[in-house]
Amino acid sequence: MTADRTAPMPHRGCLPASTPPQLLVLVDTEEEFDWQKNFSSDARGVTAMKHQWRAQMVFDRYGVKPVYLVDYPVAVQADGYQPLREFLADARCEIGAHLHPWVTPPVEEEVGDRNSFACNLPRDLEHRKLIILKQTIEHNLGVAPIVYRAGRYGADAETRALLDELGFLIDSSVLPWTDLRPIAGPDFRHWSPDPFWFGGAERLLEIPLTTGFLGLFHRFGEEVFPWIGGTHGVRLRATAVCARARLLDRIRLSPEGVTLAEAKRLTRALVRRGEQQVFVISYHSPSLGVGHTPYVRTRRDLEQFLAWLDGYLEFFMGEIGGRPASAQGVYRAMDAARGRTLPQAAQPSGERRRAAG
Ligand SMILES: [Zn+2]
Repeated sequence: MTADRTAPMPHRGCLPASTPPQLLVLVDTEEEFDWQKNFSSDARGVTAMKHQWRAQMVFDRYGVKPVYLVDYPVAVQADGYQPLREFLADARCEIGAHLHPWVTPPVEEEVGDRNSFACNLPRDLEHRKLIILKQTIEHNLGVAPIVYRAGRYGADAETRALLDELGFLIDSSVLPWTDLRPIAGPDFRHWSPDPFWFGGAERLLEIPLTTGFLGLFHRFGEEVFPWIGGTHGVRLRATAVCARARLLDRIRLSPEGVTLAEAKRLTRALVRRGEQQVFVISYHSPSLGVGHTPYVRTRRDLEQFLAWLDGYLEFFMGEIGGRPASAQGVYRAMDAARGRTLPQAAQPSGERRRAAG
């Protein structure tokens, strides 16, 4: 991504100050593939979809409506979309879109690391893949997706323009404070987790993944992490050293690779700092099967995964006093609040993002 530094500062998406913390669950709903191997257009299995009900039951208990961000192999195969149709029939979920270019027709590109980020494709090809994905979701799930997340967070300013054109309302492809350039992806080092408006007439809302810093130096995370997490930092293993010493750790809100205790610490810290109104839990649907992702290798891992969801929701609705939210609900509430928000320049929290792109 090339951040356009001449672009005007985006307007932050805000809820009225009295709103309790809101929880969104965004699930990258996708085929199973070997995370250690090269990308392949042949890996299209969706056997983990028949296990999604286990997490869905946890969500049902807390009144949470997850957004299943569906990719092409899930949208086109009955084993993929059928379980979601059942949730949808009872209004227990929302449906969004997720693009893995290497398994989404037309596959005209050379399949590999670089082209696994859709924003690296020729725009016309990214556009055609998005259209086919959207149409397939509409055909087999009967709903027009309004929420999007790029596979591997491979979205940039031009992707956002395509989303605008295709009628999406929300993007969640920003991975705050993270530089993906070493693997040919976008540079989100200077992007905060604050939602913001973008697109023509600022019609679209970006809701980044909830990411934050923990540790003694958390206040300096934005300045320090790009350095220790950059090329030099990786070589020096600075990030691991800092995390182990509890000096500074970048945490994403997810049952994948983050303990429940860490997720709670991050949430408490963000609530205390008053920085976050909407919390986004993210994970990958194949984690509900055993052996498909690095995070769930055994049955015991799966039980822990489900216990994480249960434990976090109990904590969020209890101790934090939060509420389950829907993507559409957050959009509508932030849209309604727009007329009442202060102009960007007068906002006390300050805009830390260089450019919205
Ligand atoms: Zn994905």
